Formats: sequence, structure tokens, C-alpha cells
Amino acid sequence: MKILVVGKGGREHALVRALGESPVAPEVFCFPGSDAILRMAKPVEADGLESLIEWMKQASVDLCVAGEESYLVTGEGLANLCEEAGIPCWGPPKESAQLEASKAFAKAFLERHGIPTGKASTVTTVDEARAAIAGNYPVVLKFDGLAAGKGVAVCTDEGMAEEFLEEVMVQRRFGAGDLLVEECLTGPEVSVFAAVIDDRYVIFTPARDYKRLGEGDLGPNTGGMGAVASRKLVSSEVLEQIEATIVAPTVAGLKKDGLPYRGFLYFGLMLTPDGPKVIEYNCRFGDPECQAVMPLVGGDLASFCLAGAKGEFAPELLRFDEGWSVCVVLASAGYPESSRSGDRIEGLDQVSRVDHAGTRLNAEGVWETNGGRVLAAVAGGQDRASAVAAAHAEADKITFEGAQRRRDIGILHFEEA
Ligand code: ATP
Repeated sequence: MKILVVGKGGREHALVRALGESPVAPEVFCFPGSDAILRMAKPVEADGLESLIEWMKQASVDLCVAGEESYLVTGEGLANLCEEAGIPCWGPPKESAQLEASKAFAKAFLERHGIPTGKASTVTTVDEARAAIAGNYPVVLKFDGLAAGKGVAVCTDEGMAEEFLEEVMVQRRFGAGDLLVEECLTGPEVSVFAAVIDDRYVIFTPARDYKRLGEGDLGPNTGGMGAVASRKLVSSEVLEQIEATIVAPTVAGLKKDGLPYRGFLYFGLMLTPDGPKVIEYNCRFGDPECQAVMPLVGGDLASFCLAGAKGEFAPELLRFDEGWSVCVVLASAGYPESSRSGDRIEGLDQVSRVDHAGTRLNAEGVWETNGGRVLAAVAGGQDRASAVAAAHAEADKITFEGAQRRRDIGILHFEEA
């Protein structure tokens, strides 16, 4: 079996590893990949979506797995092009990926199907935004488009809201687009993932990510400074509630709306006092949640995804470990405002599981930093405490100049629902 994974970050490193470890022993390729990923996966000769499809046809690739969201919505869309070429793709077509690409589309979908979410209105001008806020703080403002996790502001007062409106609606930092003015919800956040195959699904191990840079959940938002995953993260009652009120109606809604879906679907949820509510959908696995969840996935992920991409539902191919898994991210100096490249990374040979996100091999064959989030140390255990201790002990072994890391990953904000 030949599999192509599309993407280049820590999530794709974890996916390449998990697919490669499947008992069918697939030949795994990655595009564009990274120096680290391409030690585990084979490289691809392509320079864009069209040539990637041509390469897949020539190489007789059996399965294309979408890691990064941008490929699903760029141009004609990775899954759409795969479909035209007759290549099974694990990842939804462009029209369905609007659930992630457009927050207004997602909100309308949620409301249409009666799925619990914060109340919101979509506005097009600053004046409309002010009218929708109507002096009610806190309020959440969301730019309606892909903004690399920077298009959302939880505004506690008018000053913050005005600053965001100026940046996003006047200076157009993320380009043209509408704005969602959304009710501010409270409660612990949890990430739930489902493998969706038409009108059926399998729920993977839930996870929680740590978005803020600083310990105690302080400081600026980041792409994620770590994650923890376990079936026990959420009680079985709450998980059943999430399935009944959110996952099942979402999958049924996709079918009702004629939106084809075969791939991972991420539910960003808040466990509010009124029950779980949807904050966002992503049309792929989360990063860094994927790095924490994948070690808990057993069975034959490659065969499961290939069957799923062809419309066959084969949950018996998967197994989920009952243990815990923690991933601790090390970020480079200056992140998230900037990032520093070229810092030499020591200790990688001491660690058993590292997923690289922003690293490169220099001319002397030495690993160095090459991006904001540099890498993640991942370890597991039978209980939370042992997984936390193991992951931090692994992260301790890796050093580079200016490394930033949180020591409360897996520990903080761990209210079990
Ligand atoms: P990312 O891609 O990084 O997850 P995003 O730009 O898609 O971010 P969201 O996930 O919708 O944005 O929101 C980012 C964060 O803002 C959430 O994880 C949550 O902490 C907070 N947030 C979003 N919506 C709400 C809400 N209605 N109430 C309270 N907090 C919210």
C-alpha cells in the first residue's frame, strides 16, 4: 500500500509515524514534508497541487491523507482533485471543508441542525459590529476566514473590541471578510475527533490542548504549547452527551446538506454549565493534539483510512489504548510574535519519541530550529501522573538556545467533566 501524507508539521510527523507503524507496513510518502519527516517518509517530486496529483497517478498512490487544512481549500481543493483523478483521499472536498474555512458557514450549519453553540451574528461593517455587541462584554469577535489561529479575540471590554475591529475590519490584516460577533462561553475546552465516513463515524481519544504561551494559561495565544489525551479526560456520560448532541447531528447534518465527508473532523468544544457547545470545526486532525492522540491509536490506521476513503466503514480495524498520552512543545525564541531559526538542538538522540514541527538539518548534519513551534516530546503512561512525568522528563533532555516551554502541560486546567 502506498500512502501520501500532505503537510509538513508536527501533526504530519505523527501521522506519518502512525500510518507507517500500521501492520500492513505501507510505503509512506510526504509532501512537502520536512527534513525530519523525510527520514521516516519518502519524498515527492512536485511543486504544487496539480503536479502532486500527476505524481500520485504516476506513482500509483493508493491513498492520499490530508494533514494540513490549507490544501483542502486552496485552488480546486486536494480532495476534489483526487476524486477527479480516481485517487482515494482521506480528507473532505472543498465544499465540506468550508466548515473550517468559514466561521459564518459553520455557524449557519450549527444553527440549521440545532447543534449547541454560542449565539452569534455575522456582520460586515464596524458599525454593524458595534450594534451587535451593544455594550455587552465579554464578547468574542471572529474573523470569517483562515487566519492561522489569530482571527479570534475574546474581548473583555470596549477597548479590546475596538482594537480588534480596527485591525481586522479597517486595516484588513487578514484581507476582506465578514465578522462574527459571538456570545462568550465559559468552561473547560476539549477537542474531540471523529473519523467520518459518509453517515458513519468513529470517535477517537479526546484531547485538550494548551493554547497560551505561558504557564497558568497566561500570555499570548499560540498554535498550541502541548496537549494531553485520554479516554478518561472526559467522563463517559459527558462523552455520550457530546456524541448524542454534537457528533451524531453533525454527521447527519452533513448528509442532509449533501456535503460529502470522508476524513477526520475536529470538534473544538467548551463544556459549559449548559452542556457541551461547539466553538469550532476543523476538517483535519488538531495540532498538537494529533501528536498526543496517535500513540493511543492501535490496530491498522492505514487500512482503516484507505477503506474509509473508499466509503467502507471498518471500525474493527482500530483499537484505542486506555492510557494517557502527553505532548510537550518546545518553541523557539521570540515565538509567537516572531521565531528564531538556526539554534542548534541538543539531546534528540536521548529521546524516544519526538515530532518535529520547525526543525532542519544544517550543512553539517546537525538539527537546528527552523520555525516557531520547533518540536514536541511525546510520552505516555497508564495514568495521568505517569504520562505527565514521562513527557516532561523527555522534554528535559532536549535543549536549544532560547527554548520556550510550559511545565504545566498535562497538569493545569484538568477538571474532569
Ligand atoms: P485555532 O485554529 O487556533 O483553534 P481559530 O482561529 O479557529 O483558532 P477558535 O478555535 O474559534 O479560533 O477560537 C480560538 C479560541 O478562542 C478558543 O479555543 C477559545 O479559547 C476562544 N473562544 C472561541 N469562541 C469562544 C466563545 N464563544 N466563548 C469563549 N471563548 C471562545
